[in-house]
Amino acid sequence: MVREFAGKMERAISGAENIVIVGHFNPDGDSVGSVTGMYYYLKELGKKAVVVLPSSYPEYLSFLDKDRDYLIFTKNPEKVAQAIEESDLIIGLDFNNLGRTEGVKNLFAASSAQKILIDHHPNPERSSFDLICSTVDTSSTCELLFYVLMETALVDNDIEKMPYRSAEGLATGMLTDTNNFKNSSIASTYNMASLLLKRGVSLDDLGKRVFGSYSESRMRLMGEMLRNQMVVLEDLNAAYMVLSKKIQEEYNYLQGDSEGFVNLPLLIEGVEVSALFTESDEFIRVSLRSQGGVSVNALSNRFFNGGGHERASGGRLFIPVDEVPAYFEKSLREFLDK
Ligand code: 5GP
Ligand code: MN
Repeated sequence: MVREFAGKMERAISGAENIVIVGHFNPDGDSVGSVTGMYYYLKELGKKAVVVLPSSYPEYLSFLDKDRDYLIFTKNPEKVAQAIEESDLIIGLDFNNLGRTEGVKNLFAASSAQKILIDHHPNPERSSFDLICSTVDTSSTCELLFYVLMETALVDNDIEKMPYRSAEGLATGMLTDTNNFKNSSIASTYNMASLLLKRGVSLDDLGKRVFGSYSESRMRLMGEMLRNQMVVLEDLNAAYMVLSKKIQEEYNYLQGDSEGFVNLPLLIEGVEVSALFTESDEFIRVSLRSQGGVSVNALSNRFFNGGGHERASGGRLFIPVDEVPAYFEKSLREFLDK
């Protein structure tokens, strides 16, 4: 599947003059990592390419945008519009529907460029793309793209020929989507890790950079959330935390500071569903995780205006922050039929 797709993708790339690579809103490691992997591959080919992200990335991923040339739609909508208008090929990465590109969605949909999607979410929106490489049987979009690039003529299954910055980007998303090999890692993930090490990418250094570079206030915020904000609902085998604006102000909250917090309650014996609610100006951002059988993708589809993966999903709520606990409990009770 990957080899056949790689050939078709290479033909599309060789026929294109202006390529735009698009990530998703609120980009995480897999999003910024995969656009980086693709960008430096295209650069190595001598292609003209532009990276577009619908919103900015957290500081801990800024090392991937070394030249600070990724276009952020929320900061620079005119440049993004121009890049998309001029493009004859658009490559979407790590999202399964155009809605995930938020403000970029209309530009993307209106463009007559050829459109490619590489992604690992269930049920991709096939009608929006000309060529799709999609499977849920991979750890991350970065892993899927890694094996696609391995099949290209440039790399030709020789890891030494993969551009270093591509390898570094792809390693980042593989690490973040597996939470440092703690979930979703399969045999091909470890094979990729082995090849990346051969290429000279230090997974230890990357892991330290991505998971272990807390500011003091972030570390104290984590303590606050666990000590005072986490609520365990024993009969539902669930736990949740609400990160209100008040707490954000108290701990000088910056984008990305709560990354990974939602995974923590799953360390408690018996907890199978975890939720983190983060208040923002426009809505409450929802983050859901599960272990065992509960589909948080379905839970989010039904109650939280979002979706994602079976065991990791997100969404939005448009209710006052103090109504969140009761809404979560009621929704989960209904969903689990308890
Ligand atoms: P996170 O909790 O890390 O923000 O998101 C976990 C996963 O849920 C992401 O990798 C993405 O697949 C999905 N996701 C997050 N937010 C949304 C959303 O608003 N809508 C949809 N459809 N998926 C989301
Ligand atoms: Mn992903």
